[in-house]
Amino acid sequence: MRTEADVVVVGAGPAGLMAARTLAAAGRSVVVLEARERVGGRTWNGVTIDETGVEHFIELGGQWISPDQTRLAALVEELGLETFDRYRDGKSIYVSPDGTRHEYEGDRMPVSETTATEMQRLIDELDALAAEVGAEAPWAAERAAELDTIALRSWLEQRSDDAEAIDNVSIYVASGMLTKPSHAFSTLQAVLMAASAGSFSNLVDEDFILDKRVIGGMQRVSESMARELGDAVVLGSPVREIEWATPDESTADPRNGIKADVRNGVPNNGAPGRVVVRSDKLTVTAKSVVLAVPPNLYSRVQFVPPMPREQQVAHQHISMGLVIKVHAVYETPFWREQGLSGTGFGGGRLVQEIYDNTNFGENIAGGTPGEEDPHGTLVGFISDVHAEQMWALDADERKARILDAIALYLGDEAKRPIAFALSDLGAEEWTRGAYATSYDLGGLHRWGHLQNRPTGPIHYACSDIASEGYQHVDGAVRMGERAAQAIIAHSKQARDS
Ligand SMILES: Cc1cc2nc3c(=O)[nH]c(=O)nc-3n(C[C@H](O)[C@H](O)[C@H](O)COP(=O)(O)OP(=O)(O)OC[C@H]3O[C@@H](n4cnc5c(N)ncnc54)[C@H](O)[C@@H]3O)c2cc1C
Repeated sequence: MRTEADVVVVGAGPAGLMAARTLAAAGRSVVVLEARERVGGRTWNGVTIDETGVEHFIELGGQWISPDQTRLAALVEELGLETFDRYRDGKSIYVSPDGTRHEYEGDRMPVSETTATEMQRLIDELDALAAEVGAEAPWAAERAAELDTIALRSWLEQRSDDAEAIDNVSIYVASGMLTKPSHAFSTLQAVLMAASAGSFSNLVDEDFILDKRVIGGMQRVSESMARELGDAVVLGSPVREIEWATPDESTADPRNGIKADVRNGVPNNGAPGRVVVRSDKLTVTAKSVVLAVPPNLYSRVQFVPPMPREQQVAHQHISMGLVIKVHAVYETPFWREQGLSGTGFGGGRLVQEIYDNTNFGENIAGGTPGEEDPHGTLVGFISDVHAEQMWALDADERKARILDAIALYLGDEAKRPIAFALSDLGAEEWTRGAYATSYDLGGLHRWGHLQNRPTGPIHYACSDIASEGYQHVDGAVRMGERAAQAIIAHSKQARDS
């Protein structure tokens, strides 16, 4: 089937749908092509089943909203959705490197005075760097090259020889956010992560960063936008090819068998042109494209002609992190009776953080409006090399090892959930990791300036290239809106000239 539209959006995650919603509101015709049989991308409402056959609601992907994520919060309200607070009353647990369990109150981990001082010193320095560099264009910062060519681990080790302090500070940005080992990404990338959330201190504060959830799940944000767009959203239709530019004859080199292409780029990046987007179900001819997929998937699409040299190179240096989100459902939130919040941290441990993730209100597994689910749900995270180790085990051993690790925080009762599930985004063809992408060491200052610059009529939008809200749904929504506004501005310019 073939159709025409002003704009084609590739990907019906929050970024693509926000782009489409903004374009449609401005009177542009739009078609959204989505590879999966559902919208929402890395936000994904799911269920896990207990032994009696009862389904329990889980959010397999992104779920939390923090107070700085104002664009997402406003959108949630515009869509008529509601939020609820994460349960956080009671003491938290810290498991120290020797495996000792400590209960504590407040936001200061119960580490020794020396380690606490070291942690604060490192956090202060990262706060200062986040303020200096900012989130909008970290590649343009004065010290960009210096900070981008040193791995976060080495940077921390240059400043401290307290391994516990280093592990605990790393958790907030390495295993906790970029989900890569701290030797695998630069200090500049870590600083971008911090600046995108307002400061490094905000990343450290779980009551800030993991504040609210959408009743019924974050995927409802995408589902609500898709409902507004109706037939314009086509599911189960991966985009295979984008025809987007006229080859530049001067690039041809018949002696070496090179045909004309656009290796040196095109004039007027961002301006409307003629694009033909071919997907499994539909071919759409349009003036602009919003490529709203994570950068690690750009190369799944064949660009005709191929992308310019600089994009072809840059896109190879952006990769997904890897994290397993663990969901364990219990008859009751038993930890609350012991005066515990369900929050636990253990830098460098198999399950590095856990939280009370008990559901509230109606969801796809039932739930009563206005009431908390009587079952208690815990969520935990297993990052990077630990995640790889877990996937290498058989399912029973994996489950046993993970529950043992959770029991370190909450005791043996944690070993007996009534339902258990793991989010496996690494195995999802149209995502290939979690939570999001980042550059390899030194990549951000070399290629970051390209990530938001359109390539001809192709505009980019996703949380992975956001400044504010980087790697979060808020960033996806901001980028979707920004791409749509850029297309609208360019089309007005083209009309007026
Ligand atoms: C386990 C997990 C936990 C997370 N926790 C949080 C959290 O608590 N809070 C938070 O804010 N964020 C969280 N995130 C991140 C958040 O989910 C993402 O930042 C957000 O979903 C990104 O939105 P997006 O639209 O940019 O990309 P995506 O959500 O990835 O959407 C991209 C879409 O493009 C589609 N697609 C890909 N290739 C093609 C193609 N060739 N043709 C057509 N369609 C294609 C995909 O199927 C997908 O639907 C989490 C993510 C994961 C995985």
